[in-house]
Amino acid sequence: MFGKLRGKGKLSEDDVNEAMREVRLALLEADVNFKVVKDFVAKVKEQAVGIEVQKSFTPGMVVVDIVHKELIELMGGSATQIAKASKPPTVILMAGLQGAGKTTTTAKLAKMLMKNNHKPLLIAGDIYRPAAIKQLQVLGEQIGAQVFTLGNDVSPVEIARQGLQHAKANSFDYVIVDTAGRLQIDEALMDEIKQIHAVVEPDEVLLVVDAMTGQEAVNVAQSFHEQLELTGVVLTKLDGDTRGGAALSVKAVTGCPIKFVATGEKIEPLEAFHPERMASRILG
Ligand code: GDP
Repeated sequence: MFGKLRGKGKLSEDDVNEAMREVRLALLEADVNFKVVKDFVAKVKEQAVGIEVQKSFTPGMVVVDIVHKELIELMGGSATQIAKASKPPTVILMAGLQGAGKTTTTAKLAKMLMKNNHKPLLIAGDIYRPAAIKQLQVLGEQIGAQVFTLGNDVSPVEIARQGLQHAKANSFDYVIVDTAGRLQIDEALMDEIKQIHAVVEPDEVLLVVDAMTGQEAVNVAQSFHEQLELTGVVLTKLDGDTRGGAALSVKAVTGCPIKFVATGEKIEPLEAFHPERMASRILG
């Protein structure tokens, strides 16, 4: 990229425009939201025009450097940590559409916490999807984490309430509440998760979104954020060839940070989100 730009002195508007044409294309190809791309390009341009180019650099290199820094900044700077309640247990509420990877991610998150010597309790709050409870139990067994369930006949709000009591009584220091997904934003289920929220008073509300859904991920994140005040997003299925433009759009549109990324169907510890790695991935 940017091989064509040559010359010394100050970056002219033409230099920057030429470099940004390629950046704009790369961002759109990575499925970054159109409006986010437009704002981003304008912001970089504003910074870049007039900058002094040192002898050993090309204008293109200077622009790319600014682009990288701005992308990282837009995605939230350095990697973020999971919240920790002043008094345990720390409660994490998982939200998301069906199939986004919520149950799988719940297990990966538990594995990450266990690797850091924590003792998480997983609460099976998805009573609607056939086999969701069983799925969580199987994953729990696989990683050696306890799963709290009251079956399919008790309301998820009650399951969450009793699960939290169980965690407190048995010195679990983290509680992860897996909730029912939905095919799309659905009022009844949204009401239910809000009630669960009111009962467990979570320290983290993590939205699980499928990176492969691209710009749709932004709409989903926005809707959930309006209703639930998310504290973070987990971007799943980054193992595919998706460039992950959703990471940039979600943060830019909702202001909510991406906290973790997930890859693969195997239960490995969840990985922290690294904005600098994502910036390189998005630029291709
Ligand atoms: P939920 O409905 O949101 O609870 O979704 P599940 O956890 O059941 O996941 C739906 C499907 O996506 C399952 O087949 C998972 O194995 C798969 N899955 C979940 N996370 C990932 C991921 O990070 N990468 C890949 N490739 N598949 C995933």
